[in-house]
Amino acid sequence: MEVYWAREAEAYVTPVADDLVGVAVLTTARRSYDDHLAAFPELRARLAGAGRAGRVRGAGPLRQAASARTAGRVLLVGDAAGYVDALTGEGIALALAQAPAAVRAIVNGDLTAYEREWRRLTRRYRWLTHALLGATRTLPARAALVPVAQRLPWLFSATVGLLARPAGQQAGSGRPTG
Ligand SMILES: Cc1cc2nc3c(=O)[nH]c(=O)nc-3n(C[C@H](O)[C@H](O)[C@H](O)COP(=O)(O)OP(=O)(O)OC[C@H]3O[C@@H](n4cnc5c(N)ncnc54)[C@H](O)[C@@H]3O)c2cc1C
Repeated sequence: MEVYWAREAEAYVTPVADDLVGVAVLTTARRSYDDHLAAFPELRARLAGAGRAGRVRGAGPLRQAASARTAGRVLLVGDAAGYVDALTGEGIALALAQAPAAVRAIVNGDLTAYEREWRRLTRRYRWLTHALLGATRTLPARAALVPVAQRLPWLFSATVGLLARPAGQQAGSGRPTG
C-alpha cells in the first residue's frame, strides 16, 4: 500500500485487484473527493486518466463511543464496541480478538468477563491511537513526524512493532513482529 501525507489529511492507496486500487482519505475536513485529492499532487498525477470504479463512499466519523460492551443479552464486538480511529490499521484484528472473548463469556455464563476482556484487549490500541491522534493534531508536530521517523529509525521501528503486536499481547511476549 501507499500512504500520502498532506497538511490536513492522509491518503491510503490499497490494491483491490490487478487493475483496481482503493483510495481512502482520512481527515477531519469535509470536502469533495476532488478537493481532497488536490492536496496530494503526486497521487493525483498517478491517478490521472484512471477511470473511477464507483461512487465515493463516505465512512466517517469513525469514532464510536460505547459506554458498555454488554446490555442484557447483547454483546458488542468490532467498531460498535468502541473505536477510536483507523490510523493504526487494527480494527479488523481487534474485532477478531474480541469475538472469541465474547463467545467465551457466553459459554461461561459470565457476560461481565467480556467487558474486562474487551478493556484488556483494546488497552494498547486505545492508548496508542489517542497518543498518535494527539501528536498529529497540531501542524508543527504533524510536519515533524515523518522527518523524526527518518532520523530515528529505531523509534519508528519500535512504534510499528507496537502496532503490529496482536491485540492483548504484552510487551516482550509472543513472536517477534519485525
Ligand atoms: C479508511 C479505513 C482504513 C482502514 N484500514 C484498516 C486496516 O488496514 N486494518 C484493519 O484491521 N482495519 C482497518 N480499518 C478498520 C476496519 O475497517 C474496521 O475496524 C472493521 O471493518 C470493523 O468491522 P465491524 O464488523 O465491526 O464493522 P463494519 O465493517 O462497519 O460492519 C458493520 C456492518 O453493519 C452494517 N450496518 C450498519 N447499520 C446497519 C443496520 N441498521 N442494519 C443492518 N446493517 C447495518 C454496515 O453496512 C456494515 O456492513 C480501516 C477503516 C477505514 C475507514
